Amino acid sequence: MCVGDDEKWMRMAIEVARSKGSDPASSPLGCVIVLDGKVIAAERNQTQELPDATAHAEMMAIRRACEGIGEMELRGATLYSTLQPCGMCTMASIWSKVGRVVYGAGRNEVHRMYFEARHVDTLHFIADAYRDDLEIHGGCLADECAGLYYSPDADVPIEEQGNL
Ligand SMILES: [Zn+2]
Repeated sequence: MCVGDDEKWMRMAIEVARSKGSDPASSPLGCVIVLDGKVIAAERNQTQELPDATAHAEMMAIRRACEGIGEMELRGATLYSTLQPCGMCTMASIWSKVGRVVYGAGRNEVHRMYFEARHVDTLHFIADAYRDDLEIHGGCLADECAGLYYSPDADVPIEEQGNL
């Protein structure tokens, strides 16, 4: 479910993701960070291109946003991601002090290859964080976002499963 302007920004995140093409093998993830109604970062994952195993869309967007505003904290900002952030990106969201995380497809709507742990749902990290000023909402344009990725029962070649 999208609230307020969330749909507009999630559509931008989808466009950013699609700039990698539409092949789920390229893991098209997009992330947009918005502060005071303005986009301060819009990035896709760049792990292969850089190459950098930590260059997930959210990590790249947090880096660009902090550089752009010249602050290490992004208080009051909303981070939009086409897919539920992984553990690394969820922790980075907590450390960066964003105020909201909004994602499209949830971990149960895509193949397990996009997540590092069998049972740890990153929503639990947010719920357990010392911060009590961070909100997370899933399911904004969930179907469109899930369409970017391998489905839960897809027969994905093992060499494409980045979490193994
Ligand atoms: Zn990630």
